[in-house]
Amino acid sequence: MTKLRLAIVGAGPAGIYAADILLKHERSFEVSIDLFDQLPAPYGLVRYGVAPDHPRIKGIINALRDVLDSGDIRIFGNVRYGTDITLDDLKRHYNAVIFATGAVRDAALDIPGIDLEGSYGAADFVSWYDGHPDVPREWPLDAQSVAVIGNGNVALDVARVLAKHPEDLLPTEIPDNVLAGLEASPVTDVHVFGRRGPMQVKFTPLELRELGELRDVDMLVHDEDFEYDDAARAAIASNKQLFVIDKVFTQWRARETGQASRRLHLHFYSKPVEVLGEDGRVVGFRYERTRPDGAGGVVGTGEFREVEVQAVYRAVGYFGSPLDGIPFDERHGVIPNHEGRVLDDDNAVVPGVYATGWIKRGPVGLIGHTKSDAMETIQHVLNGQAGWWSPAEPDEAAVIDLLRSRGVLYTDLEGWRRLDAHEQELGAARGRDRIKVVPRDEMVRISRD
Ligand SMILES: Cc1cc2nc3c(=O)[nH]c(=O)nc-3n(C[C@H](O)[C@H](O)[C@H](O)COP(=O)(O)OP(=O)(O)OC[C@H]3O[C@@H](n4cnc5c(N)ncnc54)[C@H](O)[C@@H]3O)c2cc1C
Repeated sequence: MTKLRLAIVGAGPAGIYAADILLKHERSFEVSIDLFDQLPAPYGLVRYGVAPDHPRIKGIINALRDVLDSGDIRIFGNVRYGTDITLDDLKRHYNAVIFATGAVRDAALDIPGIDLEGSYGAADFVSWYDGHPDVPREWPLDAQSVAVIGNGNVALDVARVLAKHPEDLLPTEIPDNVLAGLEASPVTDVHVFGRRGPMQVKFTPLELRELGELRDVDMLVHDEDFEYDDAARAAIASNKQLFVIDKVFTQWRARETGQASRRLHLHFYSKPVEVLGEDGRVVGFRYERTRPDGAGGVVGTGEFREVEVQAVYRAVGYFGSPLDGIPFDERHGVIPNHEGRVLDDDNAVVPGVYATGWIKRGPVGLIGHTKSDAMETIQHVLNGQAGWWSPAEPDEAAVIDLLRSRGVLYTDLEGWRRLDAHEQELGAARGRDRIKVVPRDEMVRISRD
């Protein structure tokens, strides 16, 4: 073996880090990497998940761009695994494949009324405000009061974007249609509900603190949620993050409120019970108060409450999607694997097939975690030479011929650079860093110009 022809499906951080680590790794053979993504632009959830008002995190794109610009990786955007290219195709052209397809769907929340009009998944809303080409361009922002279910960073992102005054989003890369939608929103109250206590949250201190800095938005928390038990006190004493989170809450509880035109309410010990509807539309949200069970969890108290809302967003986690011909764990929404080596139903290693990132480990963790993930997977790719496929057509031109013969309008690195420059020009003309191009056909047209 003198050359490893490797396909990576998914050009999010996991796929790009995997390519980078492999290229830089000491090895006795050459490597040629083709990176496929269903979207015409790379970077996955860094471009289409991280909130537009988090420019520092969005800046990770610069490091990912350096990897793509290193000249050793070809990218094929607008190519969907499962329709435009199949497992048989990959076996014909490559020695191995790494799936880095992430998780883009909302996890389900099985309560009555969750399918009413006005009840949404956070992932869809995030895709909308981040200008994802595959969601409708209009988002119905007609609610004055909104419930957000969940106590992770995504719930806080959704709550913040809903509550923030749109003028304060102007300097960001937010698309025009999103800005217009948010400007027309009549929202005054956003209620965030978590099943557990304030010392059992999943969000990070930085994301929480940011809520308290929103202009003309009051932060409202409730004293009844802050009667800490021994477990909560011990958690504050032993966990630095919780120590900071507790401090933030303490400051908010001492603040004067009542002057702001918008309010963000945090409700803890509140278990979702039902989305209430009238004529098929959301009119309220019913929840049960919980209390600590003494063992780190919570139990219902039997006390039910209701709040009037006209929209509900569930932010209870993301979930991976199955890929044609590849084993899938329906329960956890991941590709079953051992340290990145894909396993079949009998737990045997599937030769030549690897996984990394959120589709390997589940949708938890920050962008940085996908790097350590990729290291582990790449180690197995390097050591798994005996299981690599023997492609009939390893020639680098053959895969281009295949895509062309199928009429796939793929975009390449040059195309991405064109689109990137175009978006930056759109932004510069309006004193902003970038304005995203949203429609897929327009992205493809600009890329393939
Ligand atoms: C709303 C939200 C906000 C976040 N904010 C932060 C933050 O502020 N800071 C932070 O560190 N982390 C943040 N994260 C986490 C971070 O986005 C993830 O850790 C990271 O993106 C996971 O990387 P990945 O490459 O595994 O998946 P992804 O980023 O999802 O990339 C997967 C790629 O695979 C492609 N793909 C999927 N299916 C196919 C297919 N069939 N064919 C071809 N291509 C396919 C997708 O188009 C996508 O480009 C956030 C996540 C979310 C959901």
